[in-house]
Amino acid sequence: MINRDEIARVLPHDVVFQDTFRTYAGPEDLRYATGKATIRPSKEIRVGSKQDFVIKFAVGGGGIEPGGSVKFALPRTWSQPQMDDPDDPGYVEGYCGAGPMEVRLSQWEPIEWYVTAHVHTRLEQGDVIRLEYRNVVVQKFPQTEWNNWRNHLEVFVSKTAGGPHRPMERESRYELEILAGPPAKLRVIVPARSKVGEETSVRLAFLDEFDNPPHEMFEGEVKLGLEPSGGEVPGAVEFTKEDGNCKEVGGLKLGKEGVFFVTAETADGTIRTRSNPTDCKTEGWKEFIYFGDTHSHTGMSDSLGTPDEFFAHAKRVAGADLIAIVDHNHYETSTVDRPWQKWMTPEQWREIGDSVKRWNEPGRFVTILGVEEAKTTMGHRNILYPNDEQPLNNQAGTEELWNFLKGKRALVVAHHSLNGVNWDDFHPEFEKVVEVYSMWGSSEYAGNPVWDKPVTGMSVQEILATGAKVGFTGGSDCHHGQPDVNSHPSRFTNIYYKGGVTAVIVPELTREAVFSAMERRRCYATTGERIVLEFTVNGHQMGEEIEAKKGEKRVVKVRALGTGAIAVIDVVKNNANAFGHKGSGEVEEFEWVDEKGERETDYYYARVTQEDGAMAWSSPIWVSVK
Ligand SMILES: [Zn+2]
Ligand SMILES: [Zn+2]
Repeated sequence: MINRDEIARVLPHDVVFQDTFRTYAGPEDLRYATGKATIRPSKEIRVGSKQDFVIKFAVGGGGIEPGGSVKFALPRTWSQPQMDDPDDPGYVEGYCGAGPMEVRLSQWEPIEWYVTAHVHTRLEQGDVIRLEYRNVVVQKFPQTEWNNWRNHLEVFVSKTAGGPHRPMERESRYELEILAGPPAKLRVIVPARSKVGEETSVRLAFLDEFDNPPHEMFEGEVKLGLEPSGGEVPGAVEFTKEDGNCKEVGGLKLGKEGVFFVTAETADGTIRTRSNPTDCKTEGWKEFIYFGDTHSHTGMSDSLGTPDEFFAHAKRVAGADLIAIVDHNHYETSTVDRPWQKWMTPEQWREIGDSVKRWNEPGRFVTILGVEEAKTTMGHRNILYPNDEQPLNNQAGTEELWNFLKGKRALVVAHHSLNGVNWDDFHPEFEKVVEVYSMWGSSEYAGNPVWDKPVTGMSVQEILATGAKVGFTGGSDCHHGQPDVNSHPSRFTNIYYKGGVTAVIVPELTREAVFSAMERRRCYATTGERIVLEFTVNGHQMGEEIEAKKGEKRVVKVRALGTGAIAVIDVVKNNANAFGHKGSGEVEEFEWVDEKGERETDYYYARVTQEDGAMAWSSPIWVSVK
């Protein structure tokens, strides 16, 4: 049996859950509240819209004693409830026709907030507490399933003063439907590297205003073009309802060398866009660049949706080449229906593994099995595996993790390192890359402009300064089931950067090639855009450890193809900006010669910043004196 302190430990972030469930000895002790809760409006609410909600709770059998209370948990992704100004967003007011009542707000910022109605006289069955919650700007991502503490919409009832707050049974709780918007954007993805005369495909996906898959289906024609001219593209693509807003068409054939973009425009001209760049060479390429999200969650832990929905989104909507499913293995699986579940179950892990296996398609779409371990003393670590059948580690602790991984092939990826990550127990056998960017922002260095939270951990530069030879990855850490392309802000009120991706440089698109590229740091991170980045020192590729003679020059070469105009490309040497190249267009190439080394081992990497704020970071190259 789980004791109360254990529950508090298991559910440390959640005030409602703590207050509610620590009162019970275990599942067999849990009783549901009686009564019925409704919310209006409840259907077809659009993402990002402004709403006035009325929540009604009808008291159930046994009534509520004076001193009892009803807690309304409100989604943290909506306007923060306030009682100061009726004209401001999130104004709340409570009424009860049957007797005096007092409404109070409580919150544990930024994780959650709720409104509690304290009852001063006895309420009988059928009496109604009415809560108005006005001028509410609702979340920006679609959601129909509310059974998860990451985005509460629940009612908890205490029938007596100081009594336990009981959750309501599913049938008595309210349901709510947040729908995506109509098609407002078009995403166009082409291969980053192509060969003259060889046919490749174009992936198209409509998105709503907030980058969600739209609720309505686009029907009609999309005209494609090439910029600059010099090849063939299908002139027009017809979208029908059955296409579900996503389509992959062949027929892209480039006639000469160069950097090309595919343009797309709806027949009425309301949506116009352009693809990522494709780099075309006559002789083709020995290595290709593929993109995808290596850190994102599903409803198997604290996100939304099934693993199959996750992969369908990555493949069809995002047009991703590779994708890692990385759910939490621990308590955040908790929901109102299974509050005592501490760890991912073997059944859930098997379901994830089966889905990873089913969706893997060498040459087109590589899936990677992963799991997030946030219960180490070193901070959050993602474990990525090279195959889809692995045992599940469901124990907390750093030592336990290293013991579990002994003899296995795996990558351990620290993420949002500025937030709580330390490097005390660094394990070079597994820690070959770190996630430099995600929805949390950039952890590159403390004080960088793409991080807005207190610094409680180590930056990537501090990690490099320890001598750790780690390459860079990017991920989303999306918690609403949209890997790679996601609405933002996310299911956290305090996270609003867009998701990042990892680019891998590989001879072929297979799981082995992708995994091995990350092991060898032949990868780089971007803020989500398909930016092409080439980085060499003395002819050696990113991720390599090379030697140079004492006093030997280091020739640093950078080539970047932006998705927009490039503002600056910095070469970073031993954590300092050593050289800055000002950009003027989308294609930038330069050479910088470092006359000599400074240390026994110097390390260099490149940072691209576009005028629109998009960024990319190459993995470093380490140069040691012979
Ligand atoms: Zn995490
Ligand atoms: Zn995560």
